[in-house]
Amino acid sequence: MAAFWTEPDFDDHEHVQVVRDRMSGLTAIIALHSTHLGPGAGGTRYWHYPEPKDAVRDALRLSRGMSYKNAMAGLPLGGGKAVILADKSGQKTQSMLEAFGDSVNALGGRYVTAEDVGISEADMVTVAGRTRYVSGLPVAGENAAGGDPGPFTAMGIYHGIRAAVRHRLGKDSMAGIHVAIQGTGSVGTGVARLLARDGATLTVADINDERAAGLARELGGKAVPSEAIMSVECDVFSPNALGAILDDDGIARLQAPIVAGGANNQLARQEHGAKLAARDILYAPDYVINAGGIISVAMEYLAKRQGEPSDINEVRKRIATIPGRLEDIWRESDATGVSSDAVADAMAQKLIGR
Ligand code: NAD
Repeated sequence: MAAFWTEPDFDDHEHVQVVRDRMSGLTAIIALHSTHLGPGAGGTRYWHYPEPKDAVRDALRLSRGMSYKNAMAGLPLGGGKAVILADKSGQKTQSMLEAFGDSVNALGGRYVTAEDVGISEADMVTVAGRTRYVSGLPVAGENAAGGDPGPFTAMGIYHGIRAAVRHRLGKDSMAGIHVAIQGTGSVGTGVARLLARDGATLTVADINDERAAGLARELGGKAVPSEAIMSVECDVFSPNALGAILDDDGIARLQAPIVAGGANNQLARQEHGAKLAARDILYAPDYVINAGGIISVAMEYLAKRQGEPSDINEVRKRIATIPGRLEDIWRESDATGVSSDAVADAMAQKLIGR
């Protein structure tokens, strides 16, 4: 592999570190994209990568995404991300997580971590045994926010879908609006439940057919095979599973005037934002609409630094600003003809001084 700073995904990241701990077998990469607005915040992913270079790329791409996401959410935080490389056995041990915690601690607060794919709340408790630069920890008390970010992410996406329906379809009510949801995990299920309360018509899909069927039964919607969800004729397609689904083939299959969902990195490549616009599909940039979780995690962390619990009402208030940010993006996109993803990127870059 060529030097990582010659990779296309290297974007003048401030700090990229390989962490090796022989005793525990830990191999991890910590990437700090920008600390212009504050400490670089973003979760830790535990994943088996076919090649080490894929892990480097993921860390570079995801940490830049966190800079953009945190800036657009109005948080006093920069962007960072860590990946722990799982070996084939997938053994994630306590000593690995402790060694990882030590390496986060050694950065002295320039990087703040939390859960991401493959890392649980319990894992973060282990990491927190070695460093205080951690968020997403379990919380107690009715008004305390924090812990699993999934429900807060879902809340933001729900608000964002409503804003998209207002903007594109001119409707204030979700009654009878047909939403096709890809992925019925933590985020997809939360979005579906909130939409069902408003009378939306739901079609759901998951590679775990039973999970999708169970949610459809619970909410009175329909479940379809996962291969079919992107071609369902509907008002909103909401991707809440994998990234890179909006490629040439995926975009060609869509039969929806709106794409608005929580999956990270939905566009396979940058050009796919313009391809969506060319099909006159309104796109909610993923890192803007899915910021609810990081808002909760950030508020938890910032409150903890003040020795206070995070206030759930403050978190809700901030999540409710997501539609306004989306409206700004869509208005500028409508006025200039620049696709919404490119408008969002330019706004984020300005905020982080690039
Ligand atoms: P999750 O693991 O709880 O759920 C993902 C679901 O998608 C699973 O049920 C899985 O079976 C399903 N799935 C996987 N591949 C699929 C496919 N090809 N077709 C249909 N379903 C498929 O994860 P989550 O926390 O709900 O996150 C969902 C997405 O949202 C991810 O892309 C994640 O990166 C992103 N995201 C999550 C959060 C959060 O707070 N959890 C925040 C921001 C972004």
